Amino acid sequence: MDLSFSEQDEAYRQKLRDWIAGNKDLATRTMKGIDDKGDRNPIQAMRDWQRHLYEAGYVGMSWPKAYGGYECSLTEQVIVNEELARAHLPPTINTIGLTIVAPTLIQHGNEDQKKEHLKRILRGDDIWCQGFSEPGAGSDLASLRTAAVVEDDQFVVTGQKVWTSVGPIADRCVLLVRTDKDAPKREGITYLLVDMKSEGITVQPLRNAGGGSHFSEVFFDEVKVPRGNMVGELHGGWAIARSTLDNERSGLSGVVALENNFKKLLELVEAGTRSGKPALEDPQTLNQIAQYWIEIEGLRYLGYRTLSEQLKGQKPGPQASVGKLFSSKLRQAMAKSALEIAGPYAALTKKSPHVLNRGRWVAGFFDSLGYSIGGGTSEIMHNVIAERVLELPRSVED
Ligand SMILES: Cc1cc2nc3c(=O)[nH]c(=O)nc-3n(C[C@H](O)[C@H](O)[C@H](O)COP(=O)(O)OP(=O)(O)OC[C@H]3O[C@@H](n4cnc5c(N)ncnc54)[C@H](O)[C@@H]3O)c2cc1C
Repeated sequence: MDLSFSEQDEAYRQKLRDWIAGNKDLATRTMKGIDDKGDRNPIQAMRDWQRHLYEAGYVGMSWPKAYGGYECSLTEQVIVNEELARAHLPPTINTIGLTIVAPTLIQHGNEDQKKEHLKRILRGDDIWCQGFSEPGAGSDLASLRTAAVVEDDQFVVTGQKVWTSVGPIADRCVLLVRTDKDAPKREGITYLLVDMKSEGITVQPLRNAGGGSHFSEVFFDEVKVPRGNMVGELHGGWAIARSTLDNERSGLSGVVALENNFKKLLELVEAGTRSGKPALEDPQTLNQIAQYWIEIEGLRYLGYRTLSEQLKGQKPGPQASVGKLFSSKLRQAMAKSALEIAGPYAALTKKSPHVLNRGRWVAGFFDSLGYSIGGGTSEIMHNVIAERVLELPRSVED
């Protein structure tokens, strides 16, 4: 395992920093929700931002050129992720498309599907959502009941998905459906690509504890999906879904975002008090802060290890669950510490003149709770690590 960045990598980093410095105005405009035409349209502004990033060569750099990628090294991709997050630039809007759907299509899609979708994912032309979870089928995903009947050259889909992130703004969806209800539950599932504008789809936004409504319920009422939109074989969707989940979990540790949170937490500690004394003089607080930094560094090297394996051509496997589990715990612990240090001020919103860090702590606390559920709960991560990484016996056969 080689964890160092080469001279060439560092030169690449510098070139990127120059690009970032030259595009600060564009980033600021995007954050204000102003699109390329000068209209206030936050979603279009984010699509435009992703397209500019792509055209500059900073999205999909490790993807094959034949599908719109740049065939750069994964190390360069990591440098870009790090530098964009450190510069507090807007993220790419099509996260699910880029980190979950595209790697799945590159691995399992046919040529037509790759040609049709991959470049559009890179440019942010199509925003993708993931239609896996259902009421009654979250952790036990293989119990899903949304059904698809094959009629001539199409599937007819009826059922319901829930917790679908970015559902309200998505153009397309990767959808798991049951195509054989008599087969063992993992053997009757098919993986489809669905146009969210299809007749019969209704998206109902859901409000989360922090007040946002980025996820949704999605209802399918006899929705027609062309047979050409099936990924892999009929009834063969479970193995593809597993690789989608491994890709999702490998992208969920978000070390740079944790590092940014840590820096803000440190500022809070430097300015705050505990039990009437400066928080910086409180040994318990200092111990906690040191522990957080140690864990962030641990996650960074875990990420580099996964990267090093990917550079050797290996796909992210169940070990991605380790990073996902630890980063969600760490995110929650830091958010809780911030609330304790900030005290009642943490509850203030942006409207108050006494607001701390633009109200990020209370919002961050609510946000952190979802990280130990989305992409598989922490309990399920423990199961995956025990059974698929450590190869311990399964607790219950199903
Ligand atoms: C922020 C966020 C975004 C999400 N985005 C999406 C999305 O875009 N697309 C999508 O399809 N889904 C999405 N989800 C749904 C998510 O994948 C599910 O919520 C998750 O898999 C858990 O399923 P559930 O909610 O049905 O809980 P359940 O599966 O009912 O679990 C309830 C509790 O039981 C525990 N439990 C269940 N089974 C076991 C077991 N075998 N061993 C030990 N403990 C167990 C769980 O850990 C949990 O604590 C999102 C969720 C969140 C919070």
